[in-house]
Amino acid sequence: MALTGIMILKMLPKTNCGECGIPTCLAFGMKVAAGQIEIGECPYVSDEVKETIGEASAPPIRSIKIGGGDAVMTTGGETCLFRHDRRFENPTGLGVLITTDMSDADVDGRIARFNSIRIERVGVLMKADLIAIKDSKGDEGAFTSLVQKVLDNAPDAKLILMSDNPDTIGAGAKACGDRKPLLLGANKDNREAMGNLAKELGCPLGVIGSNIDDAVEISEALIKDGLKDLVIDTGARTMRAALEDNVLARRAAINKKFKPLGFPTITFPCDMTDDPLMEVMVASVLIAKYAGIVILSDLQGDTLFPLLLERLNIFTDPQRPMVVKEDIYPLTGPDENSPVLITCNFSLTYFIVAGEIEGSRVPSWLLIKDTEGLSVLTAWAAGKFGADLIAMFINKCGIADKVKHRDLIIPGYLASIKGELEEELPDWTITIGPREAGHMPAFLKEWKPAA
Ligand code: SF4
Repeated sequence: MALTGIMILKMLPKTNCGECGIPTCLAFGMKVAAGQIEIGECPYVSDEVKETIGEASAPPIRSIKIGGGDAVMTTGGETCLFRHDRRFENPTGLGVLITTDMSDADVDGRIARFNSIRIERVGVLMKADLIAIKDSKGDEGAFTSLVQKVLDNAPDAKLILMSDNPDTIGAGAKACGDRKPLLLGANKDNREAMGNLAKELGCPLGVIGSNIDDAVEISEALIKDGLKDLVIDTGARTMRAALEDNVLARRAAINKKFKPLGFPTITFPCDMTDDPLMEVMVASVLIAKYAGIVILSDLQGDTLFPLLLERLNIFTDPQRPMVVKEDIYPLTGPDENSPVLITCNFSLTYFIVAGEIEGSRVPSWLLIKDTEGLSVLTAWAAGKFGADLIAMFINKCGIADKVKHRDLIIPGYLASIKGELEEELPDWTITIGPREAGHMPAFLKEWKPAA
């Protein structure tokens, strides 16, 4: 029987210390019951309680860690079918395939692009996560030297080793040391040897089925052998088959608690088409529908970026607005004569406004007022960005110690509160800024503090 939040609360210390990141033990217990947080996040529960609660409250799709040290990612850990029911937990891992029969130039190019295509957006670094290394020649020496090349040249890549030969994959995995790769994989014929290898090295193991039924059989056998950390490749190599398998596996795991499919899936758009644009389309479908890992044939900025953006959107918690911290943000080295602007803490607003200010190259102070993640007009309408609250923030934030002038630029959409704000802040001149962030550079270049 699934444990409820109250049942879990009875086994917690009930001190409400907040060290788990949740303010009360009850709220923590509810989150554990909902599979949204692991019981181990509370440092005060005993191993016995961890075991009791951990098994009963584990997410229906097991969380699998790939990598080690600073280069580690989690896949799986999902608890729902639809993002709006709760949220999706761990973003689909995106990776690139390299094989032992590729030329050095092809391999080097892929590794170089893995390292160089990195985009920062709304404060999040977006990039590919994994390099999948395939033994396509049945040559252990070539495979281990390719693994070594990736280890040496892609320090933050999480690795997937692909071979059906346990000796070959074992040699590659031993070279990886603490960077615990995913071993892909275990089929009907080599299951036992692969399972023993994964146990010995403490690596997650990939199951390769010829179809979903076959994958279930192998997974069931591995679970019986005591393996816990599995990733499933159902063998699907068309978009339709992969989509159907992903949906079937997710429904079976979430709705029926069917253990053999309670693991993240790995999919290979790289094997589904030779057309790079079609490959991206396939990948986008599989990111949206439940793939734990998606492997591409190559990485190019113009095709990887939309996938990264899709992933960012899908795996953002829909119930929690993205916010930045209330603070004073110095942009491009402001001094005591630099303009002072204020806006809300909705992160998209912050990054757009900050981006335009930085683009203008006019050193500025950007004040971010906590509006609970609401945008400027919505926050004002909700009473969270009114003249009284802005004045309180200006008086306490310390900006008056950083500038000689007393000129505050407010968002153009707040023009109607200018008079009220002047009454609240009698020492300050209130200037109405542009309505659109795109007009900010021209505005700032013209700006002079009020006399
Ligand atoms: S860390 Fe443990 S004791 Fe502290 S609030 Fe969280 S659940 Fe309660």
